[in-house]
Amino acid sequence: MAAPLTDQEKRKQISVRGIAGLGDVAEMKRSFNRHLHFTLVKDRNVATPRDYYFALAHSVRDHLVGRWIRTQQYYYEKDPKRVHYLSLEFYMGRTLQNTMINLGLQNACDEAVYQLGLDLEELEEIEEDAGLGNGGLGRLAACFLDSMATLGLAAYGYGIRYEFGIFNQRISGGWQVEEADDWLRYGNPWEKARPEYMLPVHFYGRVQHTDSGVKWLDTQVVLAMPYDTPVPGYKNNTVNTMRLWSAKAPNDFNLQDFNVGDYIQAVLDRNLAENISRVLYPNDNFFEGKELRLKQEYFVVAATLQDIIRRFKSSKFGSRDPVRTSFDTFPDKVALQLNDTHPALAIPELMRILLDIEKLDWDKCWTVHLDRIAALFPGDVARLRRMSLIEEGDPKRINMAHLCVVGTHAVNGVARIHSDIVRNTVFKDFYEVDPEKFQNKTNGITPRRWLLLCNPGLADIIAERIGEDFLTDLQQLRKLLDFVDDEGFIRDVAKVKQENKQKFAAFLEKQHQVKINPESMFDVQVKRIHEYKRQLLNVLHVITLYNQLMCSQAAPGYHMAKLIIKLITSVGEVINNDPAVRDRLKLIFLENYRVSLAERVIPAADLSEQISTAGTEASGTGNMKLMLNGALTVGTEDGATVEMAEEAGHDNLFMFGLRVDEVDELDRRGYDARRHYERLPELKLVLDQIRSGFFSPEQPELFSELVSMLLHHDRFKVLADYEAYVDCQERVSRLYQDAAAWTRVVIRNIAAAGKFSSDRTVSQYAREIWGVEPSHVKIPPPNEPPITPQS
Ligand SMILES: *Cc1c(COP(=O)(O)O)cnc(C)c1O
Repeated sequence: MAAPLTDQEKRKQISVRGIAGLGDVAEMKRSFNRHLHFTLVKDRNVATPRDYYFALAHSVRDHLVGRWIRTQQYYYEKDPKRVHYLSLEFYMGRTLQNTMINLGLQNACDEAVYQLGLDLEELEEIEEDAGLGNGGLGRLAACFLDSMATLGLAAYGYGIRYEFGIFNQRISGGWQVEEADDWLRYGNPWEKARPEYMLPVHFYGRVQHTDSGVKWLDTQVVLAMPYDTPVPGYKNNTVNTMRLWSAKAPNDFNLQDFNVGDYIQAVLDRNLAENISRVLYPNDNFFEGKELRLKQEYFVVAATLQDIIRRFKSSKFGSRDPVRTSFDTFPDKVALQLNDTHPALAIPELMRILLDIEKLDWDKCWTVHLDRIAALFPGDVARLRRMSLIEEGDPKRINMAHLCVVGTHAVNGVARIHSDIVRNTVFKDFYEVDPEKFQNKTNGITPRRWLLLCNPGLADIIAERIGEDFLTDLQQLRKLLDFVDDEGFIRDVAKVKQENKQKFAAFLEKQHQVKINPESMFDVQVKRIHEYKRQLLNVLHVITLYNQLMCSQAAPGYHMAKLIIKLITSVGEVINNDPAVRDRLKLIFLENYRVSLAERVIPAADLSEQISTAGTEASGTGNMKLMLNGALTVGTEDGATVEMAEEAGHDNLFMFGLRVDEVDELDRRGYDARRHYERLPELKLVLDQIRSGFFSPEQPELFSELVSMLLHHDRFKVLADYEAYVDCQERVSRLYQDAAAWTRVVIRNIAAAGKFSSDRTVSQYAREIWGVEPSHVKIPPPNEPPITPQS
C-alpha cells in the first residue's frame, strides 16, 4: 500500500478542486504579493498571519469580480424573473475556502501559498465567521444562496448587515458567558459598500388623507446603506448578490427639531438611528416583542422593496414608460420569498407603496378577505374572529402569521410533518378555504460546504466510485448502494471517519486541552441549546451510562438554557475526572458552536442526536449534515428526520419515542412525569443525584429547580421518552461493536442522503412557488467574448 496522503495532498486529489497549472500558481503568487504590498501596505518582515489571510482573500476575490459584473450584465440583458430571498438572518460562516472551491481555485491557492512558505489551512482559520444568524433558519438562507447561484437563478439575498452577529460563547466556571461578536473589527474583504444606492426608510410620523391620496408626514428618516457580497455558484461562472443593509443617520438627523441649537448632542444622537443594524437578536424559535426588533424588520423590508421596484423600473424589458410604470408585469418579473414571518411587513409595505406612492387602485383586496370567509361560512362569527388579521383586545394586535397567509400566494412548511401540522393545526381554518395555497418544501443543505469543503476525504472516496457529478446532483449518491458490501469501500469509509476523528481529537487537545479517545464512539448533539431540543434527555442518558459503569465496577427559556449548560459542564466535570471511568465515557461541552465549528465536528461524528419532542422541530438541518457525513442517527419522529428514515429505510436509523399523535394524546390525558420517576429505578437514581448536588457539591441546591421542572411542568416531556431512549442507545452500542456492520449502515445512510440537498429544495421552490426554471446555464468566464442576448 502507498504511504498515507497528507492533508494537503488529499485536498488536491479530487479534480473538481481545480487543476493547478503552473501559470495559475505563478499568477496567484504575484497577486498575493501585490495585495500584501498595495492593499495591506506590508512587507514580509512585518506582515502578520492575518495580513497573509487578507492578501489571499483579496487575490481570490479578484477572481470573483469579472464574473460578478458579467452575471449582472447578463441578467440585465436577459431580464429573467428575479427571485428575492428576504431574511433577517444569513448565517454564512467563512467565505475564503468556499469561494476557492466554487471557482476551482483551491489547488492553485494551496500550491501558491505553499511555495510562499505558508500553510493554507492555517490562513483559513484566521477568517472570522459571518455569524449573522442564530442557527438553522439563518444557515438555511445561506445554503439557499449557494444553491440558487449554482442553479443559475437570478437571485438576491436581502438582509441586515449586523455590526455584531451572534455572541461568542465562553464557558467560565461551567457557566455561559457572552462576548460581543465584533466580526468586522479587522475589515471584511468580501463586501463592497454601495453608498450610491443608499435609500431612505421612514419611521413614526402621522398619516394625512388628502384629495390626491394619503400622505405620510413628520417621519424620522434613517438611511439604508447597502453592502453587497458576491455569491458564486459552483463552477458555473454565476455570481449572485447578497445585499445587506446598514443603518446610517442622515446628516440633518435631529438638527431640525428637538435638538435645535444643540449641534453636539444632535451628532451624538446619530447613534440612535444607527443602532437599528447594530446587533442580531440572539433568539432562536422565540418571539421578541421589542421595538428595536420591529424596527429591524421594517428597515430591511422597506429598503429592499424600494430597491426591487427601482430595479424593476429600470429593467430593459420591464415597462420603462417614462410617464407611468405599469405594474402589470411585476408578478412576472419579481418573486419574493419571506424566510418565516420575520419579514412579514413586506406585505403591507408593498401594498402601501403600490397604493399610496404608485397610486394603483386595487384597495379592495384586504376587505375582500373577511367578506369571502363570511360568505363561505354564514353565521360563523367565531371563525371570522379566528381568521381576522386583527386580534381584538387592548391594545389590538396585528396577527403577523395571518397577514402572511392572506397576503401571499403560497405558504410552505419546511418538512412534510411540519407542513401537515401547518395544514391541520396552525392554519387549519385557512387551509379549509385555500387548500392549494399550502405546500411543503423539505429543507436541504448545500453539499458543497457540507461535504466537499468540510469532508474532502469522504468526497474523494465517493468520487472514486461514482464520479463527481453527485456534487450538483446529490441523488447520484444512490449509486453507492452497489458498494454496501464492497470490502474496499467499507475500509475506505471507516478509514476516512477515523482520520476525521483523529483530527478532531487533536483540535480538542490543542484548543481546549481535553483528551478524548479516538477509538470511542463520538456521540454528538450539536445545535442551539433549547428545551424542545432536549439536550436534557441526552445528559440524563449520559448519567445513566455513568451509573451503569460505576455498578459494573426554566424558569424562562433563557434561564433554563443556561442552567442546562451548567448541568452538562458539571456532569462532564465529574465523569471526566473520575478515575473509575477513565476513557470509557467522556462528556464534553463544545463552546461557541458556529458554522466553522460545525464543519469540524460533523465529519468526525459517529452518532447524530436528533431527539426533540415530536412536533417541535420544524425540520432540522443538522440532522442532514450529519447523515451526509456518515453519522448514524438516533432520533424521534420529528422534522425531516422522518423523511431521512423513509429515504434510508427505518432499519438504518435508530428511531424511538412518542410520535406527534401520541404527544397530543398525552396532552389531552394530562402528562404525569412522576409516574416514570417512580416506575424506573435508573431514572429515579439519576434525578435524585442531580437534585441532591452530586454534580454540584459546592452548591447542592443548584439544579433542584431543573429536576422540579422535569417532574412537574415539562412542556417537552423528557421523562416520557427516557426509557425508549436508553433502550435505543443500547441498540446503538451493540451495532457499534461490529465495525463492519456499522459501516455498512453508514454507507446506506450516505447513499440515501441525496434528497436533502438544498439544490433539490431550491428547484422545488423555483418551479412550484417562484415560477422560474433552474437554468443550468454556464455564463462564459470573463476572459471569453462578451455575451450576446440569446434568441
Ligand atoms: C446546521 C446548523 C444549525 C442547525 O442545526 P439543527 O440541529 O437543525 O438545529 C445550527 N447552527 C449551525 C452553526 C449550523 O451549521
